[in-house]
Amino acid sequence: MAENHEAESSKEARSLNFVEQIVKDDLAQGKNSGRIQTRFPPEPNGYLHIGHAKAICMDFGIAERFGGKCFLRFDDTNPVKEDVEYVDSIREDIHWLGFDWGENERYASDYFPQLYELAERLIKEGKAYVDDQTSEEIAAQKGTPTTPGTDSPYRNRSVEENLDLFRRMNAGEFEEGARVLRAKIDMASDNMHFRDPVMYRIIKTPHHRTGTQWGVYPMYDFAHGQSDFFEGVTHSICTLEFVPHRPLYDYFVDFLSDGSYRPRQIEFNRLNLTYTVMSKRKLLQLVQEGLVSGWDDPRMPTISAMRRRGYTSQGVRNFIDRIGYTKIEEAMISMSLLEHAVREDLNATATRAMAVLNPLKVVITNYPEGKSETVEMENNPEDAAAGTHKMPFTREIFIERDDFMENPPKKFFRLAPGSEVRLKGAYIIKCEEMIKDADGNITELRCTYDPDTRSGLPGASRKVKGTLHWVSASEAVDATVRLYDRLFSVENPSAEDCDFRDLINPDSLRVLEGVKVEPFIAENAKPGTKFQFQRIGYFTPDYDSTPEKLIFNRTIALKDSWEKAQKKN
Ligand code: ATP
Ligand code: MG
Repeated sequence: MAENHEAESSKEARSLNFVEQIVKDDLAQGKNSGRIQTRFPPEPNGYLHIGHAKAICMDFGIAERFGGKCFLRFDDTNPVKEDVEYVDSIREDIHWLGFDWGENERYASDYFPQLYELAERLIKEGKAYVDDQTSEEIAAQKGTPTTPGTDSPYRNRSVEENLDLFRRMNAGEFEEGARVLRAKIDMASDNMHFRDPVMYRIIKTPHHRTGTQWGVYPMYDFAHGQSDFFEGVTHSICTLEFVPHRPLYDYFVDFLSDGSYRPRQIEFNRLNLTYTVMSKRKLLQLVQEGLVSGWDDPRMPTISAMRRRGYTSQGVRNFIDRIGYTKIEEAMISMSLLEHAVREDLNATATRAMAVLNPLKVVITNYPEGKSETVEMENNPEDAAAGTHKMPFTREIFIERDDFMENPPKKFFRLAPGSEVRLKGAYIIKCEEMIKDADGNITELRCTYDPDTRSGLPGASRKVKGTLHWVSASEAVDATVRLYDRLFSVENPSAEDCDFRDLINPDSLRVLEGVKVEPFIAENAKPGTKFQFQRIGYFTPDYDSTPEKLIFNRTIALKDSWEKAQKKN
């Protein structure tokens, strides 16, 4: 609840971005009878990534802010690459981000009949023709931005012949690639997209919704603007690479609109993030070649991966809010910025608990054998309502191996021979003795505790420099922890000369076995639970986790945790 409230107030506090300003002005001018309608138009050929989240927040955000509607429209114009698995994942991801399209789910394929009808109309008006050339030949005639293209030898076919051929293309009489339908516009246009763009191509693969009903499928440029029109979209918001497509968008819409209503395309800068790739082709390659465990491998930039890793949707949305929307192509946004936003949200919401990743046994020699007591731990110091939980304290405990040094440097405030530390929430202990194996490795510490230093007792306020996290050796539960790092070892894998797959960070996943977690963590290891393992970082149970074999993903490390812990004690 607190989360939602915060989102509300920050939304009000934020000033309008440039698209919102345009929408507001259009409303003020009474355009489209005061109606606001946007759409998010994913192609179901892959899972959504963080870049799509930026578009989703824009499209749904506008509708929310101005009391309009946002449609979810699957841009399913290429059956070869599309699949229902992707449709399902896209729905789930948008819901997770906190948006809902209600009844307004559409498919570009819903409009195939109207698009086909428009294509025939353009043929009849002499504005479209069937070209028998190969795609290579057509590309070779395109010209360059400074030199005009060359007319196709089929450009001046008769209306009758064009109509006959197009119908036979649709009826499946010709092979894929044998013919295309092109708009007859201007092979010398300054805008390359006007040089007789392809409208329809032959595809024989059955479509996941329309089966084998169609033999021809519209290209993006012939489908998108018209679909917007058929659907009633008022503001069609997309990314900057579509700026040169806009005149063509308007050209096709002109055949449909009588002027009383028309959709308007507006472009913003796309999101690029460091240390990852965002191209669906590359992401698909990573999945298909087994370089990651799947689309939701927690190292992927996909929304489903972020969810699995333990990112919160609020954290992701706060990040999107902070980077904002502009008309300028930005080089790259730092991954750290995303991580910061996620960390900030988790700090406010995650349940604190203790786990020891690399355990070292400590025996408290003056603590009675067989005795145990419980100590009360705050669930979240940032949130008084989060309450407390109980943690068992016993004679044998585990501490983090890194928290002990035999020969510590001067400023080492953790445990060392003869030194004292506080066990968080419990007693002060003093290191009396080290036990080593035959190779000289420390296998155990022998400590004594000061029984007067527990909370509520007179010595509770006694100060020592360090505070350590710990778990009871007999009560702790074993777990596996997956530590994730950035998927690539360079900032911009796509800009390097070599194959991007050679740049995968070999340490992007490290698996730790034999991690010890306090019983409270084991009892609450349900999907979606967010923990802060004190002094270590934020963790969440992985989908593979079972009560018999607990597996946690590290969502993100705790920055400056040590310094903070120092200040508090
Ligand atoms: P492709 O079209 O190459 O398959 P795509 O990433 O453009 O990939 P779409 O499914 O077409 O995928 O994208 C849906 C919407 O998301 C589009 O409006 C697109 O502009 C937007 N989008 C895609 N990538 C980004 C990004 N990195 N930043 C912001 N918006 C994006
Ligand atoms: Mg696209």
